[in-house]
Amino acid sequence: MSETPPSLSRSVEDYLKVIYSLEEQGSAASTSAIAQALDVQPGSVSGMVKRLAGSGYVEHERYRGARLTPRGRREALRIVRRHRVLETYLSQRLGYSWDDVHEEAERLEHAASDDLIDRMAVALENPSHDPHGAPIPTRAGRVETTERTTLADVDVGSRVRIRAVRDDDSERLRYMESRGLLPGVLLTVEKQAPFNGPVSVRVGEPPGALETVGQELARRIRVGKVKDDGEPIRSEPRAVDEPTPD
Ligand SMILES: [Zn+2]
Repeated sequence: MSETPPSLSRSVEDYLKVIYSLEEQGSAASTSAIAQALDVQPGSVSGMVKRLAGSGYVEHERYRGARLTPRGRREALRIVRRHRVLETYLSQRLGYSWDDVHEEAERLEHAASDDLIDRMAVALENPSHDPHGAPIPTRAGRVETTERTTLADVDVGSRVRIRAVRDDDSERLRYMESRGLLPGVLLTVEKQAPFNGPVSVRVGEPPGALETVGQELARRIRVGKVKDDGEPIRSEPRAVDEPTPD
């Protein structure tokens, strides 16, 4: 068994996780974006980002914001792994519903050791995705590339499969579940109202009920395009990006 790396403070873990998640979405981890995600004042973010840069976890670029170094990315992936394994365990083994696991995982991810998480993952037969469709990083810090296209970005007539949904809002998750908008489900985009209006989709295969999804919700649903036979346009399994050694 490998040596256990030291645990970081809860706030360092939260910052690394937020910066990782902004990078995952393709957004710059600017001071204001981090402040908004963590619900803190931008002033306190600047100080923390300087500390993270001092510890070698991020590089700070003046107008772009923070960017994870290979070391920061490795730490971020450990936390993300803890979070996603916990969510999967809570849902698969302890009977939690998918809209109920995020808050619990937010608390437990700081307390659980990597060893406990590894044992949970083994008990679950090393799941590849959490209940919201997000890829679970491996122990070695490898993770599937995250799909950045959302339902708000696709053209009328496209067929897409739901890859993952944002996990941080129970009410929206319950709503999505009630409409059948779950990871793995096929959608056919029928209409897109102008001026960022709602998207109308047929749910399922063969295409079933017509659902109208508002822009705000559509942006929380990540999708991958599929061919007419329902196969993904990109080959599976998706590319795994390797952490670069530092
Ligand atoms: Zn979560």
